[in-house]
Amino acid sequence: MSNNKWESFVRRVEPYIPGEQPGDANVIKLNTNENPYPPSPAVKRILDDFDCGRMRLYPDPNSEVLVDAVAEYYGLKPSQIFVGVGSDDVISMAFLTFFGSHKPVLFPNITYSFYDVWAEVYSIPYQTKPLREDFTIDPDDYKGENGGIIFPNPNAPTGVLESVDMIDEIVRANPDSVVIIDEAYIDFGGESCLPLIEKYDNLLVVQTFSKSRSMAGMRIGFAMGNEKLIKYMNDVKFSINSYTMNHLTQLCGAEAVKDDTYFRETTAKIITTRERVKLRLRELGFTFTDSKSNFIFAAHSSMAASEIFSKLKKRKIYVRYWNKPIICNYLRISIGTDEEMDRLFEALEDIINE
Ligand code: PMP
Repeated sequence: MSNNKWESFVRRVEPYIPGEQPGDANVIKLNTNENPYPPSPAVKRILDDFDCGRMRLYPDPNSEVLVDAVAEYYGLKPSQIFVGVGSDDVISMAFLTFFGSHKPVLFPNITYSFYDVWAEVYSIPYQTKPLREDFTIDPDDYKGENGGIIFPNPNAPTGVLESVDMIDEIVRANPDSVVIIDEAYIDFGGESCLPLIEKYDNLLVVQTFSKSRSMAGMRIGFAMGNEKLIKYMNDVKFSINSYTMNHLTQLCGAEAVKDDTYFRETTAKIITTRERVKLRLRELGFTFTDSKSNFIFAAHSSMAASEIFSKLKKRKIYVRYWNKPIICNYLRISIGTDEEMDRLFEALEDIINE
């Protein structure tokens, strides 16, 4: 088939593939690191009281109610907060804003698989740095010339947490580029590097409401950093679309972040379940990193991950599997409720002893 002339001017990209969202409500969904508990009851109250007539009006382009609530929670100034439609939106804006040099942006070879997609779509050069055998990051890999640095902490899909000291070491070594730490999973027992933003003007810390605040469907992410970084990001955002976040989302997000008691309760429950899951998975013959996130990245001693993946799927239990070098024998299993994890264990026992 011959191409039309216009096709030679198309921006061609290989898109990111998100985890499956099955229509069947009976599926036990342990494949996209969602929170198994509902959002704070305060969010439900906002929805119940919402005046539909308000939809006539454009939302506040500055999302002030949400920015103020996040700033207050983290003890920052509103001018140090950027909010976006999920952290995917926030990180994508950060790539576009900060990664404009001709030098390569650095990130690990095993990491969130959206980073190389953003680099490709924005024509940003990048270089991946291999993780060590135990899936930890070697800070020395991030000390050469570069056009920026990004990695998640804890890393995804490995769940491995790096120390704040190590992040400090990397930011200190890179005064000439912006370092982005993607803390999507930090609330499940990790120590945030947020205090470092007062020490370094080139560190951006990104978090999300999708995991620890149970609001993946609402789409709220945010970045925290020096006022100058945030201003530059807002300049780019307002050059593309002023009204990215809708009014209702802004209200719900603000209420969610104010309910610290509920947040602490649900994250603690997930951490307790995760530690129980580790014990049982070990008994079943799995090995895994000591995850500090809401998922476990596990390989079985005798059965291929691809086989376990398909057999679980037949039993309507979805986990995540990537047929990629190095990680093709691992499954990423999100932490659900205790009941869901018990159903997983039953299925695994069957599959492994078949
Ligand atoms: N960063 C990492 C490491 C993730 O795993 C995810 C979830 N897919 C995101 C960012 C994006 O999450 P969200 O857009 O829902 O905030």
